Amino acid sequence: MIEIAPGVFVRRHAELDLTLGYITGAGDALLVDSGMDQALAREISPSRIVLTHNHFDHVLATEAFLPCEVWAHEDCVVDDSLLDDRAHYYDEPFNGTLVAPTHTFRDTVTLDVGGRRVDLHHFGPAHTSHDVVVHVPDAGVVFAGDLVEQGAPAQAGPDATPSNWRAVLDRLLELDPRVVVPGHGDPVDAEFVRRMPIPGAS
Ligand SMILES: [Zn+2]
Repeated sequence: MIEIAPGVFVRRHAELDLTLGYITGAGDALLVDSGMDQALAREISPSRIVLTHNHFDHVLATEAFLPCEVWAHEDCVVDDSLLDDRAHYYDEPFNGTLVAPTHTFRDTVTLDVGGRRVDLHHFGPAHTSHDVVVHVPDAGVVFAGDLVEQGAPAQAGPDATPSNWRAVLDRLLELDPRVVVPGHGDPVDAEFVRRMPIPGAS
């Protein structure tokens, strides 16, 4: 865990260069994406997980953190179809249980994490139909999920909407972030996001 602002952490994983977020308040904590490492649940006990989107590498370990609330956009579907995508990367089967969101929202919702305000936003389709941006206003930190990648180009699969991606990033930048945490790679600044090439856009 690397502390990027008071009580705001990122956890970097060698596996797929994945980056998780951890936001703490007084006696409470929220995890941004559950990732693939169930062992992390032995170190932290978040009361909530926010899934930035339904790609397998961001959601597989949720079960290990239960009981906790699982937040996502209302169009975020977590089911066994995600495992087909995982099978392209891993030979051994996934032997856990996928956990669907328990709490959803459409445009914006504000959460209280131990007295700390955390806003969840959906700015429209881009990397997926249901990308969630997690904003910690008092820290100037935004967790962008796979709307932003560092160290490798952002990825547009069949479920992406490249034509709307720049507009979504513009909305993200209106939050005036000091630090933007990508779904993969190291934290970046607003300028990086401004200059980031949009995958699949001509
Ligand atoms: Zn993704």
